[in-house]
Amino acid sequence: MFDVDEALERLTRYLDDNGLKSTAQRRLITRIFFDPKHRQEHPSVEDLYLRVRDQDPKVGYATIYRTLKLLVDAGLANPSRLGDNQTRYEPDVPGEHHDHLVCTACGAILEFEEDRIEALQESVAKRMGFNLANHRMVLYGEPDDPCTAPQCERRPSTSPQP
Ligand SMILES: [Zn+2]
Ligand SMILES: [Zn+2]
Repeated sequence: MFDVDEALERLTRYLDDNGLKSTAQRRLITRIFFDPKHRQEHPSVEDLYLRVRDQDPKVGYATIYRTLKLLVDAGLANPSRLGDNQTRYEPDVPGEHHDHLVCTACGAILEFEEDRIEALQESVAKRMGFNLANHRMVLYGEPDDPCTAPQCERRPSTSPQP
């Protein structure tokens, strides 16, 4: 089971290997980023900054930015563009994979897994002479009913579509 402790351990190893220090701020940011309560939130640097600041107001925006970059370099986080123009981040959990569906009504990012899509992507790559290393797929759509995000329920039905 991959948890906060394992993420911290892997980060420490990565920092050691690269001659970097495991500072208290880096550990705090990592702990908050991997907090299971927020696992599906896909925070931007700004989102994570606000969350970390609640616990330690001394942590600066630049530190959040650089720590997220370290987590990406260490293979512990994935950056992606999901709908809006911000880069969002999510934990990279070994052996776990999902794709995303973005609600165009409220901007919520929903996660799904679909084995058939995964298999088809493999076979497309193979057909073109490639071994699939990675992929990113994002579906966009408007829900029939408000999606599962709380902000979707509150959206006035007359608001213009993006
Ligand atoms: Zn996700
Ligand atoms: Zn929605």
